[in-house]
Amino acid sequence: MCGLFAYAGENNATSVVVEGLKRLEYRGYDSWGVAVLQADQMQLIKHVGAIGDVEFKDHLPDARVALGHTRWATHGAVNLTNGHPHLSRNGEFSLAHNGIVENYQQLKNDLTAQGESFDTDTDTEVILRLIEVNLLATDDFRQAARQAFLCLQGRNTIMVVVNEEHRVIGIRNGSPLLVGKGKDEYFFASDSLSFADHTDQCLLLDDLTLLDYRDGDLGLYAVADDTELTVDWVEVNHQSTLMAKDGHPHYMLKEILEQTSSIPRAGDISFQELRPLVAAASRARSVFVTGAGGAFFAADQIAYLLRNIGGVHALGIKAYEIASYSCMLHEGDLLIAVSQSGETADTIEAIDYAKAKGLSIACVVNMAGTTITRLSDYTYYNHCGPEICVLSTKSATAQITFGYVLASALRDDRSSGEHKSETEFLAAQMHTGFIDRLVSRTLEVAKKIAKQNHLFILGHEQHFGTALIGALNVKEASYLHAEAFSAGELKHGVIALIEAGVPVIVFVGKEDSYMLNVAAEVNARGAFLIGIAHEDNSLFDEFIELPMAGQGLVNIVSAIIPCQLLAYHLAILRGCDPDRPRNLAKSVTVK
Ligand code: GLU
Repeated sequence: MCGLFAYAGENNATSVVVEGLKRLEYRGYDSWGVAVLQADQMQLIKHVGAIGDVEFKDHLPDARVALGHTRWATHGAVNLTNGHPHLSRNGEFSLAHNGIVENYQQLKNDLTAQGESFDTDTDTEVILRLIEVNLLATDDFRQAARQAFLCLQGRNTIMVVVNEEHRVIGIRNGSPLLVGKGKDEYFFASDSLSFADHTDQCLLLDDLTLLDYRDGDLGLYAVADDTELTVDWVEVNHQSTLMAKDGHPHYMLKEILEQTSSIPRAGDISFQELRPLVAAASRARSVFVTGAGGAFFAADQIAYLLRNIGGVHALGIKAYEIASYSCMLHEGDLLIAVSQSGETADTIEAIDYAKAKGLSIACVVNMAGTTITRLSDYTYYNHCGPEICVLSTKSATAQITFGYVLASALRDDRSSGEHKSETEFLAAQMHTGFIDRLVSRTLEVAKKIAKQNHLFILGHEQHFGTALIGALNVKEASYLHAEAFSAGELKHGVIALIEAGVPVIVFVGKEDSYMLNVAAEVNARGAFLIGIAHEDNSLFDEFIELPMAGQGLVNIVSAIIPCQLLAYHLAILRGCDPDRPRNLAKSVTVK
């Protein structure tokens, strides 16, 4: 998934790149590196591990141009040799890459047959070697890089710093690449947030576009035929660029607590703003809601709300499985894409697939100026501020809150009846200190189950989705095997897993006798029963109180929070870093 960040300008490029990489760490934290162009020499700094907590006591080399990379390894082990940037054999250029060269084995075989050798196990190195081979035939670096890029299959974005003329070349296909323009300085990066403290003037590269920067001049070219393209700067405003932990031990806890304000903000959308989307959803025969990973579970909850409040034919679809719904996707239908980053590769592919079938596209994203917003006919923002922890917490609840408001708008549009949004109840609930109360309650519960190997979570109807989100949070943060089931599945197999002492969470809605019976059945098998409910019950070994928010389905938003906190405490008790779960990255820009 990797983060790319390069700088050219009057300030110390090394420091600017290091700071930029810290903001891109969410894209991968296996290793990081910076190529520094100093006195016409390329110097490489590389480290295994995350850059976020590194304090730079030593003087960083002074330079005007530098290129950095933070890696999420796809090909080749996590070590210094495979870490980016990679240096050319003659030391004249260095290259960093985001993506997967899908045909790298073929290219490697061809290059090996031509006498080339390889030092790393990465797919990236074939790009480096291809450029070197091309440079034997031309001294035009742009053409050498462009021709090399044309040989690559897959979603790839590269950045190259060339010693001669202190040049920066970037090529995008799939993974994002943006340019920021300050006063006599340029930033080249995977997202605009990484340079948001320096400038809001952005250039968003389209796929198959090449940027060529030399001495304050920036040119854009089509990769296919090198024709020059227009440079269109846009202003990208990030509501908040604050990325500090604000005294909290982890971003995860900070972001969970921030839901006090992010949930009300997400619900604060006027019907006027929603009208175009309401019209599109009303016109459509079917509305599909898609996302990947945690965003899919949020998408599925949105689909639930659209069906059960909005009364529309809505279905959640995993982005990576969209092709299997092919015969259900019709021209004029609507696809709503859900993604915190706005750059999720699987979701982008689902959008492309749906567009080709004639669907209109809406999106619910957190990050401005991202690929998904540019592919969408209707764009809505969650305005959560940066979410740094890999787990989706405040973005998940904001996405579902948006879904609730949209569903309510659809219902009211149809019945022309009085709209009684419960988001006000929800917002009020957020200010009663219930998240703070949950922090200590969930810690007590987490201590009782932290040493277990399995956790089962049961929910029904609106809380089946809540259970799925809860299980994902627990798995990601604490590596405790947590599995969610629809309570209806219990007697059809799942009950075989229940034995004495096994922790089971049951989500019990208001006056939910069905779930209380399920709780009784689990209790009868000796499970350690944790009730997340509006009221305590003698069946529960532990009780976590669900907040009340009016009478309606809006409760599904706040019901997620107890599991987020359980996941957080379990991570700490089990010695895990909740902000950087192993093997994961926040923005999944490769397939
Ligand atoms: N495939 C490259 C590597 O493993 C880049 C990884 C990525 O962008 O995630 O080094």
